[in-house]
Amino acid sequence: MRGKIKTTLNVVLITCYSYGSTHLGSLHRKMLLIDASSPMVQVNGNYLKLKAGYLFPEIARRVRAFSESHPETDLIRLGIGDVTEPLPLACRDAMKDAIDEMGTSDGFHGYGPEQGYSWLREAISKSDFYSRGCEISPEEIFVSDGSKCDSSNILDILGEDNRIAVTDPVYPVYVDSNVMTGRTGLSAESGRYDGLSYLPITAANGFEAQLPEEDVDLIYLCFPNNPTGAVATRKQLAKWVDYAQEHDALILFDAAYEAFIQNDLIPHSIYEINGARECAIEFRSFSKNAGFTGTRCAFTVIPKSLKGKAKNGEEIDLWSLWNRRQSTKFNGVSYIVQRGAAAVYSSEGKKQVNELVNFYMANAKIIRSHLSDLGLKVYGGENAPYVWIEVPEGVDSWGFFDQLLSKANVVGTPGSGFGASGEGYFRLSAFNSRLNVEQAMQRISATL
Ligand SMILES: *Cc1c(COP(=O)(O)O)cnc(C)c1O
Repeated sequence: MRGKIKTTLNVVLITCYSYGSTHLGSLHRKMLLIDASSPMVQVNGNYLKLKAGYLFPEIARRVRAFSESHPETDLIRLGIGDVTEPLPLACRDAMKDAIDEMGTSDGFHGYGPEQGYSWLREAISKSDFYSRGCEISPEEIFVSDGSKCDSSNILDILGEDNRIAVTDPVYPVYVDSNVMTGRTGLSAESGRYDGLSYLPITAANGFEAQLPEEDVDLIYLCFPNNPTGAVATRKQLAKWVDYAQEHDALILFDAAYEAFIQNDLIPHSIYEINGARECAIEFRSFSKNAGFTGTRCAFTVIPKSLKGKAKNGEEIDLWSLWNRRQSTKFNGVSYIVQRGAAAVYSSEGKKQVNELVNFYMANAKIIRSHLSDLGLKVYGGENAPYVWIEVPEGVDSWGFFDQLLSKANVVGTPGSGFGASGEGYFRLSAFNSRLNVEQAMQRISATL
């Protein structure tokens, strides 16, 4: 039963119970208080299936409670996946110039192309793809204001009956977007939603998801991986491309962290694999490499060779649908910000982005080596800004969170927040100042 908050109290109650009152909590209680006979708009009932923003609010709650009882303690936050270092000078200069240009009648820009300016799409095509042997044309690149929204909005052009696979643990955006658009059932006690195929990634399988046992149509992959920090070799990616081709499936490949890859043998793009142009969409972002989390610029690659099918079996190309979607629902990224993003591809910009990446990766190395010295098993952090830690025996993910918070005054992220198979793990982020990272490691060493 879908969420119909309508005329009679009975309907309200039935709707509540059909979602399972445990998931509703305060919403359930509020609904009992409203006058169900007054007319009211219907809400999207799929939103009521969401587990009430479980992870980050719970972290915030525990941090607040600790801070209130220990007001003198200063906490070091290695939990959130946000960058900390300033924007590269090349990007700032380009944006300042763009602002001045906008202040002249010749240089003023109104609405730009919804797909992004051609100079930015050309720079991306050349530097990110052709330079690595991937034939991705500027036309196949859609500039946007973020990968988070793109990886969620892509569901607009995909049918509702597709069977979907995600890894476990996973970047929560993929799962929640599917829930919101009605592509799942309810969530079970484990936190897993009915209707999704979960592919566990744990130390037992070397953080390499096995191919799904049942046929799936959509597969979300993220490499370098958030949260585990794992990367995929050419052979591992080829396994997914082969699966997608055999099953007419579509891979949604999130490469937001490609700039952090240090090992030259690891592919940066899914299009480095033969056949991927026929079965994969790729999401990229300037958020993590160039520090654009607050500036907002990203892009999505939709090859013209990608096909889906209509209910009547007719072949439809996905590029046209996404182009139509973007032209209708999106009005482009600001001229100023696109100028800033284009500067990432200048020789100065490349150098400065490289320095930023090296800075964070040196943090990751410090975290890895300190924690391994303490006898902890650590993964990731070699080609990704996340270190994924196996928590010591005798505690679970939240237990380790509480221990680090109260004893070392360091905030991290419990692995179980990213999925049932993240239980027993803990994520530390390398996005912080050197001083904070070193102090956090000293505090952990002193207390563990
Ligand atoms: C940070 C991140 C992104 C980037 O999102 P933006 O909206 O471009 O800032 C994409 N995917 C993953 C997995 C991320 O962690």
